[in-house]
Amino acid sequence: MLTTHPFDDDKLREECGIFGVSGMEGAAAAVALGLHALQHRGQEAAGITSWDGNQFHTHRAMGHVAGNFDRDDVIRALHGNSACGHVRYSTTGETAIRNVQPLYAELASGGFAVAHNGNISNAMRLRRDLVRRGAIFQSTSDTEVIIHLVATSQYRTLIDRFIDALKQVEGAYSLIVMTPEGMIACRDPLGIRPLVMGKLDDTIVFASETVALDVVGAEYVRDVEPGELVIVKAGGEISSHKPFPQSAARPCIFEYVYFSRPDSIAEDRSVYSVRKAIGAQLATEAPIEADLVVPVPDSGVPAAIGYAQESGIPFELGIIRSHYVGRTFIQPGDKVRHLGVKLKHNANRELIKGKRIVLIDDSIVRGTTSLKIVQMMREAGAAEVHMRIASPPTRHSCFYGVDTPERTKLLAAKLDVGGMTDFIHADSLAFISIDGLYKALGESSRAAQPKYCDACFTGEYPTPLTDQDELAPVDQFALLEERVG
Ligand code: SF4
Repeated sequence: MLTTHPFDDDKLREECGIFGVSGMEGAAAAVALGLHALQHRGQEAAGITSWDGNQFHTHRAMGHVAGNFDRDDVIRALHGNSACGHVRYSTTGETAIRNVQPLYAELASGGFAVAHNGNISNAMRLRRDLVRRGAIFQSTSDTEVIIHLVATSQYRTLIDRFIDALKQVEGAYSLIVMTPEGMIACRDPLGIRPLVMGKLDDTIVFASETVALDVVGAEYVRDVEPGELVIVKAGGEISSHKPFPQSAARPCIFEYVYFSRPDSIAEDRSVYSVRKAIGAQLATEAPIEADLVVPVPDSGVPAAIGYAQESGIPFELGIIRSHYVGRTFIQPGDKVRHLGVKLKHNANRELIKGKRIVLIDDSIVRGTTSLKIVQMMREAGAAEVHMRIASPPTRHSCFYGVDTPERTKLLAAKLDVGGMTDFIHADSLAFISIDGLYKALGESSRAAQPKYCDACFTGEYPTPLTDQDELAPVDQFALLEERVG
């Protein structure tokens, strides 16, 4: 049985990373490198589309970037000076090669390739309308809706048709589009998902995160702004357009908590520094007498450093992670399922024995991982195990391109902190407050007009959720409460 590793299975998952290069000989090779740096944003499939001035070339495959794009023959077949690519963990659309991006279509204006990070929250309704009007869909991906909206728009120029399409979609989208005229990079009006722009001599590069610019040696220029379209014409001319009514940006706060790599810069801030500040704030809000601060690797490390520095409790690597276990592995069966945990993470016994431990993790989703880690600490002889979480309780699902279990599976939606403490068998459990999280980002508090999307903590979604409203006239969670009550 091929299954997801149990430690990774209990995380929210960012589902996509995108990367584009305009104006570089052999652009596809640079895109493969960029996608490699974005692999943490999606491990199920990867694809690259290139444009050689006459035609488009595409290679899409299930699996990791390495293994699919480390072959010379594959890269050499992706001719051209422009290319864009995508890594994917599916959220909308089943896992199948037809959903692997970039998606491509021949429109009246010529070829149109699109790589999308995010999720369109009214895709089902739009799709239904398009199908009624005769559209034939090739995939189950929400991204294909954009292609059909462009194809059927009544506007004359491609850019006007594209803007017309985007004005009809709700939700989160960072897009890199390739057409024979050039490359377009854009973000939804709230900028929920990230997208940055870089430069390498005369080459323009777009990426979900700055780490992907670093890997190709490109210099970070700026973020693509919420609601902005940046057009890079085939000749290199760049223009910026803001066709949407101005609205206050609401980028995803979870990028700082977990999704982005710590060596990325988001909105001019080091993700690593923000995570350390979150840990320091957590130490102020939820102090505890203990002997060691131990991070749950790797995502808990920067916050644990911040917690240790603020509290004065020594930081130690009490859990060691094997770097040779992939995200998925062959699991022999339920009976030995727990062995998988120790395959990837193991307690540093001599360090843990007899000590009072503060474990730091970024979040609790279902709680199954936290339970196993606390158990691992106890088996290693810890005298006390206190869990501190570098985000507020995750009580709501995300509909903006992040894989979250349905609400009924979120531990914090079912139990209060006391119940969660019992569930994971910890001596104590505490989360950073929502105001504390904003403080770590330099704000004084969350405020009435929050600067970020924080809906998975607060339930306040910054856009309409048309499909969800139509799909779920009855609150699933209320139903569950009825059943257990
Ligand atoms: S709901 Fe949570 S994970 Fe989703 S975009 Fe908002 S902050 Fe990010």
